[in-house]
Amino acid sequence: MKILMIIVDGMADRSVNDTTPLKSARTPNLDRLSEMGINGIMDTIKPGIRPGSDTAHLSVLGYDPFKYYTGRGPIEACGAGIEVMPGDIAFRVNFGTVAGEGSIFNKRVVDRRAGRIQKKEELVRAVNENVKLDGVEFILGNASGHRAALVFRGENLSDRITDSDPKNEGEKVMKVRALDPSAEFTAKIVNEFIEKSHKILDKHPLNAEREQKGLPKANALLLRGVGKAVHVPEFSERYGMKMAVIAGTTLIKGIGRLVGADVIENERFTGSKNTDLDLKVETALNCLESHDFVLLHIKAPDEFGHDGDFEGKRMFIEKVDSALHPFLNLDFSEVCVAVLSDHTTPVTVRDHTADPVPVMIICEGVRRDDVREFNEFQVYRGGLCRIKGVDLMNIILDLTGKSKKFGA
Ligand code: ZN
Ligand code: ZN
Repeated sequence: MKILMIIVDGMADRSVNDTTPLKSARTPNLDRLSEMGINGIMDTIKPGIRPGSDTAHLSVLGYDPFKYYTGRGPIEACGAGIEVMPGDIAFRVNFGTVAGEGSIFNKRVVDRRAGRIQKKEELVRAVNENVKLDGVEFILGNASGHRAALVFRGENLSDRITDSDPKNEGEKVMKVRALDPSAEFTAKIVNEFIEKSHKILDKHPLNAEREQKGLPKANALLLRGVGKAVHVPEFSERYGMKMAVIAGTTLIKGIGRLVGADVIENERFTGSKNTDLDLKVETALNCLESHDFVLLHIKAPDEFGHDGDFEGKRMFIEKVDSALHPFLNLDFSEVCVAVLSDHTTPVTVRDHTADPVPVMIICEGVRRDDVREFNEFQVYRGGLCRIKGVDLMNIILDLTGKSKKFGA
């Protein structure tokens, strides 16, 4: 039996006048699936713990985030296509603009996104080819827009260091500090990298060209989200299943690569409101032919949550619902489908909260319950009751006849 996991990012919400975007949306397809399946409510990490998308995704894939999550850096680096190894130190990076005299640490950040620069492969290459560090290797990986990821590899590296990104424009680039004595060498190397890469970038012809056109120079790398990569067992060795990930967001692609999945790239998967939902669904159906486990991720409802846009979120959920229609025709004796949200992103809070999320599982033999509408209020009455995210995979494995018996 194959498995399709559909994760609608931030779809769940808190009650606003006794309704939510999901509850007030017209969702005939989700409701039909809900009717055919078993429903419940889920704490993706633990009750009361506010999940990030990264920790929530690890958890629902059966990877305990308290064990395998070591910061966003390593996941972004995987998402940027860097082959991250255990022991590597990884950062998320912004190409930014700094101005002032002397050392980069005397300069102020004038634009944290360098005018939202798009094409910067040349700059990434120039840094990779021209910056030299003593005894430590590094890899700068390109990501979308102004983003990149950075990995340091070598002996005695530590992630007990601070960011260089001041997070606010007008402030100076921060010198990276060691949080304990064991990290002093790492802090020194990272600061050296920040200074040297600035020198290369500042005088790069592409930046001279940008300056002429009146665009901000992409002359600084601003580092944050440091983490030390740990060994994460591959999905295939853990479950004996070949996994595909369909996502536009670098972070989710990073999770996919971290667990050794095939990440299906398509520029029409934008990880945003303008993504091609129908193409994603079609790709998921194709992947079910070639893979055993397909993760289909849809990002935009989370963005509407962060924007505080109730109506936008409701309407986008309706679009998602229409796009999911082809899945109603799946043979549920051959494919098990799970639909869930990774966390709640209430339009009233504009950030993730720990409110549990709706979840349903549809497959042959499942004990159907009497939930007929897939929303935050109804699923509490379902047969799954309240589960933890890290248990979801076990439940699915059992329903699909893939789990091992504990005891005789
Ligand atoms: Zn999320
Ligand atoms: Zn979010």
